[in-house]
Amino acid sequence: MKLAIFGSKQYDKRFISAVFASSEFESKKSVELVFHDFPLSTDTVALAQGAEAVCVFVNDNLSAPVLEALHGVGVRAILLRCAGYNNLDLETAERLGFFVANVPAYSPEAVAEFAIALIQTLNRNTHRAYNRVREGNFNLDGLLGKTLRGKTVGIVGVGKIGLALARILQGFGCRLLAFDPFPTDAFKQYGEYLALDDLLPQCDFVSLHCPLMDSTRHIINEHSLLKMKKGAMIVNTSRGGLIHTKSVIAALKNRHLGGLALDVYEAEAALFYQDHSDDIIQDDELMRLLTFPNVLVSGHQAFFTEEALTEISECTLRNLDDFLQKVPCKNSLVNKEKPLAKRASIPVRI
Ligand code: NAD
Repeated sequence: MKLAIFGSKQYDKRFISAVFASSEFESKKSVELVFHDFPLSTDTVALAQGAEAVCVFVNDNLSAPVLEALHGVGVRAILLRCAGYNNLDLETAERLGFFVANVPAYSPEAVAEFAIALIQTLNRNTHRAYNRVREGNFNLDGLLGKTLRGKTVGIVGVGKIGLALARILQGFGCRLLAFDPFPTDAFKQYGEYLALDDLLPQCDFVSLHCPLMDSTRHIINEHSLLKMKKGAMIVNTSRGGLIHTKSVIAALKNRHLGGLALDVYEAEAALFYQDHSDDIIQDDELMRLLTFPNVLVSGHQAFFTEEALTEISECTLRNLDDFLQKVPCKNSLVNKEKPLAKRASIPVRI
């Protein structure tokens, strides 16, 4: 049988092939890995012909038409090599009887540490210093930052990544606040849970770590921005759709928002993971964001460490083994006990 791996880059090939070759996966006996460097979409779905399983990433298209087409060409399993599954029409996947599994946890520290890198780059202006010094300009004007010790950081969504961030920020001596509709004891040793409206006015930095769902889409919007302290900064390493882009542009223009670091962007699917350096980029909102000195954008790379890629490959191949051996898969996103309607509003918890 074939596993068609869509949107695969050199690093995906390297890590998946190495883990596949070195481990005792059942799939090794019967599975051929077929790497496609383009994403899964309505245009490319026909190339899944002959594969019984597909492996996809954050920006592959798993909408109802693509799922119907996958089913039509004989695909029966969808292996997401990521945690988030906002790009998947779960109801259609369940109706069509697909095996669907994700990688719910892979080095949460990889993402939390990247959020720290963004906070400190934005706060201490190292991105500007780097360029300035290379031009022979050693002037410090415009590079003034804030000492993190004693500052208040709000963590929106304290799951695996939010908790890893809390552990690190405690070391910096920050005061930690969190908003999460499902509080756990694990965070209480680091800080205090508050309602979002009570958290926002107190924070110097707000870091987003909740999943993208209907209830969290545009959680940062015109109204929530107004509740924030003037000059506070936002870091988003979760999903682009958590932020209403036009509203943050307005808040940056009137200087209410002190800085913005995005590893994820609402319309990233059209751009991220591809080289567009020879293109005229049509996304005016992204291009406007890039003009601000206090905005940092990276291309959805917070997960991108050797450790995380190894864990992703191992977990994806374990999920494939579960599919082949027809045993219950702990990372399955379908046929759980709860009805779909309830599950859709609840994040994946492990
Ligand atoms: P997780 O499921 O462990 O934690 C998510 C937390 O969000 C949970 O505690 C949940 O209760 C909370 N939550 C749910 N609804 C909420 C709401 N309305 N408001 C606030 N919090 C809410 O997930 P995780 O592993 O910590 O990952 C978090 C997110 O990070 C993922 O959903 C994914 O989108 C993103 N992510 C990004 C990258 C990257 O490379 N940038 C990598 C991995 C994950």
